[in-house]
Formats: sequence, structure tokens, C-alpha cells
Amino acid sequence: MLGLMQNQAMLISNLIEFAERHHGDAEIVSRRVEGDIHRSDYRTVAARARRVANGLDAWGLASGERVATLAWNGYRHLELYYGVSGSGRVLHTVNPRLHIDQLAWIVNHAEDQVLCFDLGFLPIVQAVYSRCPTVRHWVALCDADALPPNAGIPGLCSYEAWIAGQSDVYAWPSLDENTASSLCYTSGTTGNPKAALYSHRSTVLHAYAISLPDVMCLRARDAVLPVVPMFHVNAWGLPYAAAMVGCKLVFPGPALDGKSVYELMEAEQVTMAAGVPTVWQMLLGHLQAGGLRFSSLQRTVIGGAACPPAMLRSFQEDYGVEVLHAWGMTELSPVGTLCSLKQKHLALPPDAQMKIRQKQGRAVFGVDMEIVDANGQALPHDGRTAGDLLVKGPRVVAEYFKGEGGDPLVRDAKGMAWFPTGDVATICPDGFLQITDRSKDVIKSGGEWISSIELENIAVAHPAIAMAACIGVKHPKWDERPLIVAVKKPGAVVDAADLLQFYQGKTAKWQIPDDVVFVDAIPMGATGKMQKMRLRELLKDYTLPGT
Ligand code: AMP
Repeated sequence: MLGLMQNQAMLISNLIEFAERHHGDAEIVSRRVEGDIHRSDYRTVAARARRVANGLDAWGLASGERVATLAWNGYRHLELYYGVSGSGRVLHTVNPRLHIDQLAWIVNHAEDQVLCFDLGFLPIVQAVYSRCPTVRHWVALCDADALPPNAGIPGLCSYEAWIAGQSDVYAWPSLDENTASSLCYTSGTTGNPKAALYSHRSTVLHAYAISLPDVMCLRARDAVLPVVPMFHVNAWGLPYAAAMVGCKLVFPGPALDGKSVYELMEAEQVTMAAGVPTVWQMLLGHLQAGGLRFSSLQRTVIGGAACPPAMLRSFQEDYGVEVLHAWGMTELSPVGTLCSLKQKHLALPPDAQMKIRQKQGRAVFGVDMEIVDANGQALPHDGRTAGDLLVKGPRVVAEYFKGEGGDPLVRDAKGMAWFPTGDVATICPDGFLQITDRSKDVIKSGGEWISSIELENIAVAHPAIAMAACIGVKHPKWDERPLIVAVKKPGAVVDAADLLQFYQGKTAKWQIPDDVVFVDAIPMGATGKMQKMRLRELLKDYTLPGT
């Protein structure tokens, strides 16, 4: 027997229609590439998204065809989020930090028909356009009079001129909710990049999930600043969830340095912000240097890489800002877990609470998780036993775009299909996940595993250390031993012996790194993560003392 409720599909167009009808005047504030502050609202974004949809119809784009963006966080990017997906096309957000060859590869792989870009990325477009034969329309996200006259891109048009010629009346199509909505390539460190192809259903489910009180607790009274780029897993779904709850959105554009982010937060009275640890490091550095305080910020979501405990403490204890440590993956839409305490934890002393907050958190509805051994056997959730982390759920990938890489799923004894995350983790009896490593980064010493994340966290707690990566290096007796590669804070004085001494009493003796190498910078990937593969290559001739 079927239920007798209205069978209305969950569509991305419903989100913007809802925001327009019920939160039409909630503000969308953007620091533009042009440098100024632009103010819009959901009513205006909705109307302009309909113009985008009409514009794509006029160009004859079929349902399911891909429209790429190469853009910072801003109102025009938001209009494309809704106009492209809402009208049945697929939004492909391209990461401008990719190498030009990789960028050309993914535009061709996605067979993008239209590419919309911020003017600041014109040099990238000029370098790549002749290698992208599928792209029929190049759109610069600017006013008509800002369009450079001799850009050398055939048929280049300005976004404002393009949508000005379109009607803002448009009936969003009644799509099947499983229709593809957006495409996101993973940062993939090996082989060709693979893409998650989200659906309207998975996107709306994710928006509900992240809005929950124990997740990001999004409300109409919030002013949300996604520092995480809209080209990195849809800014963790915030552009959709914000429309669902009708909160103010504040977009930082290209200005991601500590000073610019701080000034925008204060000017727009931001209550919640989300980003990777590296951007928060810059923000905290700016606050500390200037003796500044936050006047409105209540909470910050930190994810994409492990949040160092020192950062968590600083936000909470120095600035009274609650840190929500989150773990996720492109393949999960992306949020998988988020760390918020349970009622029974509230009576614990602050240090015990802090220990829990350092974990990546509890599963969010829509992502189930399990840890298994090398034979696929489930391991105990005792907070100590580490295993390969598997996930499943309606917003987890079933396969990659165009079947790239074959069937990614593994089956358990009951035949349930799970996605292997490639992460190694523990789960405690209260359900809190703690990522100890990427499986390829784990250090195997004498048959035991050492968590590189734990050793990195200790290093960055040292007052002289700005950043640290821990990698395994070959050892004749133990197979591998941990090596810390560290960047000093400007002007700080510290040597390897000081840092190694700092580990005493903070971890088991046999896990203390064997050596420290100081470098000027650690190579960072396009999504703000340390590139340990490159680091291993750079240090391939390094040998541990005494070996
Ligand atoms: P991406 O798909 O590029 O977002 O990368 C996903 C990967 O980032 C995960 O599989 C983890 O290895 C890593 N990651 C994300 N969030 C965290 C976190 N809070 N702590 C540790 N690693 C994380």
C-alpha cells in the first residue's frame, strides 16, 4: 500500500522558490572580484536565476548538459547554482587552483558546453580555451562594459549582457528528483580525477541534514559566511541550505586573507562561518596580531582536513567561538560527521569536553558508517581499534561520472553496498568518529600503526611551529618511522631536538617521530590540503639519522 501524501519531487528549484516567497528580502552580500561590496537578496537572485535558465534555453542547451563555472563565492555564482540546475542542466564547478592540464582534462571529460568565469581567471581561460572544443559559449561574470575588448576568446560575452536580454519569467521544469544536478571532481591524488554526480534529491537531502541543530544549526536569524569555495563540493552545501532556512549569506569573493575575512565578518555581523583549517589559521593570526575580538561570530565549522586541537582551543577559549569539527568527502555531498556534544557530556570538565570536540564527530542522518579490518570484518566501536572506514546512504556516490574507475563499492556479508572512504578511523561507543589517517598516509612501524594526524597535531601545538606534516620514511628494522616536516612561525627559533623533546609525555614513546626536517613551505593541493605525496617525492633521498 502506498502512502497518500503529495508526490512532489525534491528539487533545487524548490529551494530558491521557497526562499523567494518566504525570505525574499534576506540579504546576499558579496565582496566582488571588482573589490566593492555588492548587496542582493533571495528575491533578486531568484529572478536572475530565471534569466539564466531562459538564456540556456535560448542557446539550445539540452537537459543534462553541463555548464561549468570557474568562479569565487559570490551572488552571480549563486544565480548559476539555481539557474543551471533548476532548469535541468548540470552545474560543473571547476577548481581554478588546478593545474592548467588538469583543468583542460576535466572540462573535456565533463564535455562542458558553457563556461562562466570570473574576470580574474581570464588568463586561465586564455591558456585553456583552444583545448576545450566542447565549450560553445564563454561567459565572463562581469558587466558589459568591463569585458576586455581584445580577450582573444571567440564569442566571449558578459554575464550581465547575456541575462539582461532574457525574461525573468520562467516555469521551472518538474524534473524527476533523481535528475543529475551538479558535478564535482575529487582532488584525487592518483590517476585521473573522478567526479561525483549529485542529484536534486541528494542535494536537498544534504541541505536538510546540515541544517539540523546538531549539525550546523542553521536558522533564518543567521548570517552565514562560506569561506569554503563554491568550487569545493558546493561550499559544503551551504548555498542550498541557506535558501532552505532563509538566512543571510555573505560571500568573501577572492579575498580570503585573515584581514579581509575578519573585516567582512564584522561589517556583516556574521554568526557562522565554514572553512578549512588553513584559512582559519590566517584569520586567527590576524586577530592575535591586532588584539582583535569577534563581535558577532558564534560558531565555525572546520573541516576538509583535521582541525588542530590548538586551533580549536584558541577559537573556544580565546574568542568564545564554538568550533564544529566536521569530516566529509566529495563523494558524500560532502558532510559525513560533525562534532557536537551529547547531553551526558555537558557535565564533564572542560578538558574532557575538549578531548571529544577534537574528534570528527557523529554520523549525520543520511550517512551510515562502519570500520572494518583487512578482511572486511566489522571492528569494535571502542574508540581504540582503528580500521578502514566505510559509508553508505542516499547521498553517497554509487558510482563515478561515466563509470570512471569501475564499481567503487564493496559488499558486506549481508550484501549491503558500502563506499570505502580510504580513511582510517576509530569509532567510540558514543558514536564519535576519529580519523587517524588516510589509509595511504598511515605509518606502519614494526607492524603497528602510527597516526600521522596525531603527531602533526602535537607539532602545531608547539608555539614556534606554523604548520607540520608527518610522513613515514623507510627504516631497516621497523619498516617505517615517522618524520615531521615543519614550517616555523616567522622569526621563531626552534630546532629538531626542541621539537622532539616537546613530544615527551604527549604520545607513546615508540610513536615519537625519529627526526624533524624544517622547510619554508609545505606543498598544498587545490583544496587546501597538504600534499603528502609531493612531500614524499621531495624527500625521497632523505635518510633517518643512524640508518
Ligand atoms: P575531499 O573529497 O577533497 O573533500 O577530501 C576528502 C578527504 O579529506 C577525506 O577522505 C579525509 O581524508 C579528509 N578530511 C576531510 N575532513 C577531515 C577532517 N575533519 N579530519 C581529517 N581529515 C579530513
